[in-house]
Amino acid sequence: MLEDKLYSLFGFQSFKPGQKDIIEQLMAGKDVLAMLPTGRGKSLCYQLPGLLSEGLTIVVSPLLSLMEDQVQQLKSQGIRRVATLNSFTNKEERKWLISHLSKIKLLYTSPEMLQSDELINRLKSIHISYFIIDEAHCVSYWGHDFRADYLRLKDVRDDFKMPPCLAITATASPSVRQDIIKELALKDPFFYIESVNRENILLAVEEMNSQVDKVNRLVEYIQSYESPALVYVQTRAQAEYYSHKLQVESTIRVGFYHGGMENAERMLIQQQFMNGQLDVVCATSAFGMGLNKENIRYVIHLHCPLDIASYVQEIGRAGRDGKPSFAVLLTTPEDKYYAHQLVERGKLSEIDWAWALGTLQGGLPFKSESFESIVETINGDQARTAVFLLEQWGVIKNGMVQAFAITDVAVKLRNHFDINVKRQKKRLESAITYAYGTEQCKRGQLLHYFNEEPISQKPCCNVCGLDLGPFRKDKRKKKENETLLNAKEELKRIFGIERSCGHGN
Ligand code: ADP
Ligand code: MG
Repeated sequence: MLEDKLYSLFGFQSFKPGQKDIIEQLMAGKDVLAMLPTGRGKSLCYQLPGLLSEGLTIVVSPLLSLMEDQVQQLKSQGIRRVATLNSFTNKEERKWLISHLSKIKLLYTSPEMLQSDELINRLKSIHISYFIIDEAHCVSYWGHDFRADYLRLKDVRDDFKMPPCLAITATASPSVRQDIIKELALKDPFFYIESVNRENILLAVEEMNSQVDKVNRLVEYIQSYESPALVYVQTRAQAEYYSHKLQVESTIRVGFYHGGMENAERMLIQQQFMNGQLDVVCATSAFGMGLNKENIRYVIHLHCPLDIASYVQEIGRAGRDGKPSFAVLLTTPEDKYYAHQLVERGKLSEIDWAWALGTLQGGLPFKSESFESIVETINGDQARTAVFLLEQWGVIKNGMVQAFAITDVAVKLRNHFDINVKRQKKRLESAITYAYGTEQCKRGQLLHYFNEEPISQKPCCNVCGLDLGPFRKDKRKKKENETLLNAKEELKRIFGIERSCGHGN
């Protein structure tokens, strides 16, 4: 029985909703597309089948910290035949790992790593039981833009003779789901889609008059409300700035986190936050995906989100323990213009592309460095995706540049990224309505984005009426005092025995 295995391997008595369905379908050889809320236990949906199977399960994960976190957790549960392989694995470790792959049951790796011929060739000689894409919305969100290796995963899977694939995420709108199916070539997948609603997260949106007001309001929240909390900002500089500001203006332990930090530094901040040595982290969206911290009480955004799905994903990090939590979005009127600018920034003109393409010559080997460095000086993120497209279109074949018409290809590249910008603009429109609308229920708006029916719940959001009072620290203190008065009961509960409090007898 699956339940017995669940107990013997993980010590859990029963499955959480959705887990068993997903596991059974996957084990029966079906492709699965699953959407389960944050904190539900998505990892288990592939860890259990992976551990029970004969072969190796490959888990594609977008972030290094996520991989390390999960492997550490499994090891602490006594599950040892697991490993991570990513760009930070050092040479010796990598060599050792590649020669010992047959001993491993779960291999966590990145889409980029799966482009290494050495790894692929080795993996081809091993039976691959399952191919898992965790945080599968990244396929659609990043694949078309700057992590083209996400779009190469279907070929990788083909190399492994198409093992059953599980694409799993907490947030994917219906169109993103379609994109995932297409890009991973899922065959007639089994769907397990749950509502994105997180009843225990209350929603609030506040429009401030100025950036100064916004900072003051932030300080007020951080100072008065029960932590741990996350503060999301848009740029690296902002993460550092707000963290500093809060360190100076509050008595709370605050750190910052962004993609520009050294790897070790990032790991340290994550660990300190996990261990409760930091109360608040000011971070860019690089932080928090898959973070298994249960007691985050609130998430504050200091900018207009670019997209509702990402917003839902980020606020979903609150209240994984199921206890009441809240999400606040603080904006100023200008924030929506910054958001527009950010989306537009992704655009390169036809002339830019023609310039970069001019470094390529038909009949010569493709040298990615010169092409990529030109694209990178204009827009750092799109070089790899452009190379991917050139390969798809046959401009680059077996490492050789073919004869091609620069202008035509430049137009095609511009069009590709324009379509992407259009897609992002459409997403931004919904996000702006969420951030600035004052009449519609906030929860209803989030659900609508995912084609879900509105629901009525109490408490819900600032439009439906909301009191964040119970989250204030002083209220909690009062509760603690009450508990002290009831210390006798508390002791009884904890120790299961009667003891009198105070004067030991
Ligand atoms: P998600 O990826 O869905 O956000 P995780 O996979 O990180 O969630 O799991 C969240 C927590 O739930 C983990 O601590 C995990 O051990 C726990 N968990 C998973 N499945 C079960 C279960 N069947 N019973 C109890 N706890 C579970
Ligand atoms: Mg997860």
